[in-house]
Amino acid sequence: MAEHKGKTARGSGGESELVFVALGGLGEIGMNSYLYGLGPSTARKWLMVDLGLTFPNANEPGVDIVLPDLRFIEGERENLAGLLLTHAHEDHIGAVLDLWPKLKCPIYATPFTAGMLNAKVAENGGRVKLPINIVKLGGRFNIGPFDLELVTLAHSIPEPSAVVFRTPHGTVFHTGDWKLDATPLIGQGSDDKRLQELGAEGIDVVICDSTNAMRQGRSPSEVEVAASITKIIKGAKRRVAVTTFASNVARIRAVADAAVASGRQLVISGRAMHRVIRVAKDTGYLPEDLSALDHQQFGYIEAEKVLLLATGSQGESRAAMARIAEDDHPAITLGKGDLVIFSSRPIPGNEVSIGNIQNNLVKLGCEIVTDSDALVHVTGHPRRDELKQMYTWLKPKLVVPMHGEPRHLNENAKLAREMGVPATQVAYDGQMLKLLPGAAKHIDTIPIGRKYRDGKLIIPSGEGPVRERRRLAVAGIVMVAVAIDERGEVVADPDVALDGVPIETMDGRPMEDLVIKTVDATLDSMAPKRRKDEDHVRDAIRRSVRAAVDQAWGKKPIVKVLVCLV
Ligand SMILES: [Zn+2]
Ligand SMILES: [Zn+2]
Repeated sequence: MAEHKGKTARGSGGESELVFVALGGLGEIGMNSYLYGLGPSTARKWLMVDLGLTFPNANEPGVDIVLPDLRFIEGERENLAGLLLTHAHEDHIGAVLDLWPKLKCPIYATPFTAGMLNAKVAENGGRVKLPINIVKLGGRFNIGPFDLELVTLAHSIPEPSAVVFRTPHGTVFHTGDWKLDATPLIGQGSDDKRLQELGAEGIDVVICDSTNAMRQGRSPSEVEVAASITKIIKGAKRRVAVTTFASNVARIRAVADAAVASGRQLVISGRAMHRVIRVAKDTGYLPEDLSALDHQQFGYIEAEKVLLLATGSQGESRAAMARIAEDDHPAITLGKGDLVIFSSRPIPGNEVSIGNIQNNLVKLGCEIVTDSDALVHVTGHPRRDELKQMYTWLKPKLVVPMHGEPRHLNENAKLAREMGVPATQVAYDGQMLKLLPGAAKHIDTIPIGRKYRDGKLIIPSGEGPVRERRRLAVAGIVMVAVAIDERGEVVADPDVALDGVPIETMDGRPMEDLVIKTVDATLDSMAPKRRKDEDHVRDAIRRSVRAAVDQAWGKKPIVKVLVCLV
């Protein structure tokens, strides 16, 4: 493996080549951001494909969202020709608002994706002006030296676009997120004909979605899901609520159609759902006359005449479904005999919060239908038979799996080899591959990482407040303030405050008294001359308080000592 040695040494030599590296998305599902570089290593031009976010894990307390670390491409900013967005899911566009100001490159997106991004800009007060170039579905265009073609596939949001890169060294097919579905309910189906034509033209490399590489078979069509949802709703006797991903326009359409078919009035709750519907109407994916009442009207409609569509299918605590389940929604109440359809599948990590919501709904007397009871949801990613179909059509010489955890990437590579693909290359974030010409190889490693959005700020992940918060969560904090005069005498009683530490010791003594006693004893044991040394006082108190609390409690809290010299 070559070492990263700064701008000019990156790459395998002076010949022109096509390289590929991920800032996120290889080794995780989320935070997708990929870079393609074309030219000799000393004069490469870059194209970024997607700039997404991911959500914090349990070890990242207080973090709102997680963003990729762009330091590598920031250093190459003058060589970055543009940012191309494959579709409008947050794991592909969710970092654009926060990070585009560091890149300031032109953005390219199809109409719905551009509409979703612009809606987010508007909701954020329009502070950032994004230079979005709207490109056609299936369009062919250039960005800098990159000769590109989009191919529309199917997914769980309108306009998922694969990207074809035609270079002097060969052709690469970047799938984006995809599945095969000839009847996706909205928009056109996956362009199977174009895929077959591209296979005939010759595809050298496929960079391919791995999310469902471990799931057998083929995913059902969105049309089958719609039929199943309609059937269930028609059979319901009282109120029906459906919760799904706000961005799943086809599912919104399915539920709206089911409302008409069952003679129910559609009511919509959730800001994100309203935003998506507005963009989908503007771009022609939902009919302008799709009528839905706002949730204020819910209580005025008879039980057997109402159909609620609500956000919160992933257990989000502030979304409509969580509040309804806690009987805490300002306008919506569900109860005995009402039916709630979870038209979704838990994203790993969300199972507990979704389970809590379902339990609360059951306690209210609701019936629950999930995707394990009936066909009420379908994945947006290719299962094994769809991957096989893609490799059969495109006949690539090399497959590089993307959009997956290590086990998904590995399984996708194995499947590609089983299908007769001569070479596969599993790479992770930061590992730069030369894709073309010749055999692919790992030529460099670039710096990558996670950045946190924490309130209004973007902060690094490694050091800093989030690490402190983890420690605070485990063992709490003890704060001590002491005042010492110029002769080294203690001028007032020390003040202490404890947070996240038990109130009493095992024998019932207040923990606070123990801390004060320890501070007094530590100060008493010092000569006045030593007490004039602020650092010495701070260190000595910190060590003795930690030891005393550890002895009483069995845990060492964070101890902060403030010394005021008066
Ligand atoms: Zn997606
Ligand atoms: Zn994705």
